[in-house]
Amino acid sequence: MAIDLLVDLNEEQRRAVTAPLGANLVLAGPGSGKTRVLTARVAYLVREHGISPRSILAVTFTNKAAREMVERLRRILGSEVAELTMGTFHSVCTRILRREARHVGIPETFVIYDQNDQLEVLRAVLKELNLDPRRYSPLALASAISRAKSEMLGPSDIARSSYWEEIVARAYQRYQELLGQADALDFDDLLIYTLRLFRDHEAVASRYRARYRHILVDEFQDTNLPQYELIRLLAWPDGDLFAVGDEDQSIYRWRGADYRNLVRLRECFPDLRTYLLETNYRSTHTIVEASAAVIARNRGRVPKKLRAVVSGGEPVQVRKAGSPEEEAEFVVGEIRRLVEQEGFQLGDFAVMYRMNAQSRALEEAFVRHGMPYRLVGGTRFYQRREVKDVLAYLRLLLGEGDWLSFERVANVPARGIGEATLQKLRQLSADASLGPLTLLRKVTADPAAREALGSRMLRPLERFLGVWDQILSRLPSLTVAEAIDAVLNDFGYAVHLHQGGPEAEERLQNIAELRAVAAEHFSDRGATALAAFLDEVALVADIDELEDRVEAPVLLTLHMAKGLEFPVVFIVGLQEGILPHSRSLDDPEQLAEERRLFYVGMTRAQRKLYLLYSGRGRAWQEGGYAEPSRFLRDLPVEVVSTTERASPRRRRHGELQAQPLSAQPLAPEASFFPGELVTHPHFGRGTVVEVKPAGRADLELVVAFDEVGIKRLLASLARLQKI
Ligand code: ATP
Ligand code: MG
Repeated sequence: MAIDLLVDLNEEQRRAVTAPLGANLVLAGPGSGKTRVLTARVAYLVREHGISPRSILAVTFTNKAAREMVERLRRILGSEVAELTMGTFHSVCTRILRREARHVGIPETFVIYDQNDQLEVLRAVLKELNLDPRRYSPLALASAISRAKSEMLGPSDIARSSYWEEIVARAYQRYQELLGQADALDFDDLLIYTLRLFRDHEAVASRYRARYRHILVDEFQDTNLPQYELIRLLAWPDGDLFAVGDEDQSIYRWRGADYRNLVRLRECFPDLRTYLLETNYRSTHTIVEASAAVIARNRGRVPKKLRAVVSGGEPVQVRKAGSPEEEAEFVVGEIRRLVEQEGFQLGDFAVMYRMNAQSRALEEAFVRHGMPYRLVGGTRFYQRREVKDVLAYLRLLLGEGDWLSFERVANVPARGIGEATLQKLRQLSADASLGPLTLLRKVTADPAAREALGSRMLRPLERFLGVWDQILSRLPSLTVAEAIDAVLNDFGYAVHLHQGGPEAEERLQNIAELRAVAAEHFSDRGATALAAFLDEVALVADIDELEDRVEAPVLLTLHMAKGLEFPVVFIVGLQEGILPHSRSLDDPEQLAEERRLFYVGMTRAQRKLYLLYSGRGRAWQEGGYAEPSRFLRDLPVEVVSTTERASPRRRRHGELQAQPLSAQPLAPEASFFPGELVTHPHFGRGTVVEVKPAGRADLELVVAFDEVGIKRLLASLARLQKI
C-alpha cells in the first residue's frame, strides 16, 4: 500500500510525494531522498489516484537506476509494475521509435551505433575526405558532432568560422549520410528522431501525450536540450510532471547538459510548484558539512540548507602519498584494515577518480594484494571482440543488416572474402546505395556483375549468401539463443573461436555468457525478439554492468558515481591539473563544474570519506602536476584529519610542511628508527632511512630495500617486521 510507503518519509518528503497533479519540481541537495520521493510518487499515483501504470513514464539517469526503482515498486504494486514505462531517455526513445520510425523515414528495424561504431564510420569519413586521422582525431570529431546534436544543430547549422569547424561540418554531413545508408542511429539520433517525430506528426505526438499523462524525471539538472524539449512536448501545457534535481550536481555540461533547464521549466510552466528537502539521510554530519563548504565556493548558486540526520561522524581523512602507486597501496591497505578491524564488507567501498587512466595504479594494487574489485568502464563486456562479432552477425540476421556489421564479419572466420572483394562491393553499393543483403542477391544474380567480380570473388560470396538466406528463412521460429547457435554453427564462428589460441576458452565463455543472457530474458521467437535483444545490448551503459551480486570494492570515475551511495568512499588524485582537470583551469564555468564533480563524489559517502593526493604526478601527465587540489583548501579545519597540513602561504610557494595534527604516542611495536633492519612481505629485506610522524598515530617510513630500492611506506600498513 502507498500508505506504507508514506510512513518511511519525513514531512517535507511526504508533502512532495502527495503534491497535486500538475507541474512539480523537487529541488534538493544530495542524499535528501529525491530518488526515494520520486519512487514513492509513482506508487502514490497508482494507489491513491487510481492512475493506470500504463500512463506513467519515469525517466532515470541509468538503466540500473530504473531496474532498482522497478524492484522497489514491485513490492508495492506487484505485477502491475510491468505496465510502467521506466528507463533512460535513450531506452524510452528507442521503444517509441521501434513502433513509429517509419513516420520519420527510417525502418523500424534500424540499428543503433555505439561509440565504437561511430568511430569506425568517422575513420571511413576521414579517409574519404582525404584527412589524416592522426591530425583530426575521430574521437574529437565524434564529440563535436554529438555536441552539435545536443544543441540540435544539423551539419548546415555549424558555424564555419575556423578550419576545424569546416572539417566538423563536412565530416558531420558525410557521417549522417553513411548512417542513413546503414539505417543506423547513434545515441543522440535516438533523441533527435523522437523529437522530430513528435514535432512533425501532431497525430503521433497527441497519441503519446494522451498515453503518458504522468511524467517523472530524476536527475533533471543533467538533461540536455533535446531531452528537455521531449519532456516539454509531452507534458505541456497541462500534463502531470514531477521532476527532481539539484543544480549543484550538474556534471554533464560537456555532453550538452544544461542545468538552466530548471529555470526553463519555470518559464514554461508558470504554475510550477517547487518543493525543498533539507534533511540528508545518507551521510554523517561531518561529511555533509565538509561537502557543503566545498560547494559553497561556487558563485551564483542558490544556497541550500542541508541537515544531516546522522550526527557527528569521523573526520574526513586527507592523505598525501608519494605517488599514485602509494595512493593505491594506501587504499587497499585501508580497505583491508577496515574489513578486518571495523567489520566492513568488501562491497562497502568505492574508489573514485577523475579519469579512466587513473584506474591502472589502483587495479595493479588490488591485483598485487589479491583483493577482488569491480571496475566500471574499461573494456566492457559488450565491447569484447567476440561479443561484437556475434552481435554483428545477429544484426545481419535482422533482415538487411548494415555495412559496418557486414564488413566486420564477412571474413570472420576466413572464407575468402578479402579486402579486394569488399572494396568492389563498396563501389557497387555506393552507386546503388543498397544494403549488403540486397546487393549480394543482386550481384550474384546479375550476369554483368558476375563477370565483373570473377569466379574467385564470386564463389565465397555465394556460399556466404547461401548460409545467410538459409538462417533467415528459419528466423521466425528461432529464439534469440537459437539465433546465436546458428551464428556459431552455421556461419562457423564456433570453430573459428576454438582455433583462437590461448584466449579461446575465455572468448567461448563470453559467448556462453551472452547466450545465457539471451536465453534468460528473451524467450520469444523471430525478428522482433532479436531486435529487442539488440536494443537492450546497445543501450547498456558502463554503470549498468555493475554486478550487485559480487562483494568487492568498486572502481569508477566521478562522473559515473551519480546517484549512488557507499559506506566508504576514497577519492584519489586530488591534484591541480587532475581535479580540477587541466582543461578547466582557465575557464571559470568549467572550473565550477569540476567543483560540482568533486562535490558529487564527496556526497556519495555514508560513513567515511578519504581524500588522497600525491606529491608526484601521473606518468602520462606533462610536467607531473603535484600541487594539492585547490578544492582541498576549502575543507573546514574542524572536520578534517590530515597527515600533513600546510599554511596557505607556504602552499602558494609550492612548499608543503609536515606537521601532524596531534602527536599521540605511538605503540612501541609500531615505532621505527633510522638504521633499523626490517623485512617486508613483498619487498624483502631493507634498512629504515627516515622516520616522520604521519597523522594521529602513524609513521611515514623511508626504507631502502636490498632488492627494490627506496620505498615510502606507512608504518601501520606496510606489515614490516623488525629483524
Ligand atoms: P542524490 O542527489 O545523490 O541522487 P537523493 O536526493 O536522490 O540523492 P536518495 O538516494 O533518494 O537521495 O536517498 C539517500 C539515502 O537516504 C537513501 O539510502 C535513502 O534510502 C535514504 N532515505 C531517504 N529518505 C529517507 C527517510 N525519510 N528515512 C530514512 N531513509 C531515507
Ligand atoms: Mg538520487
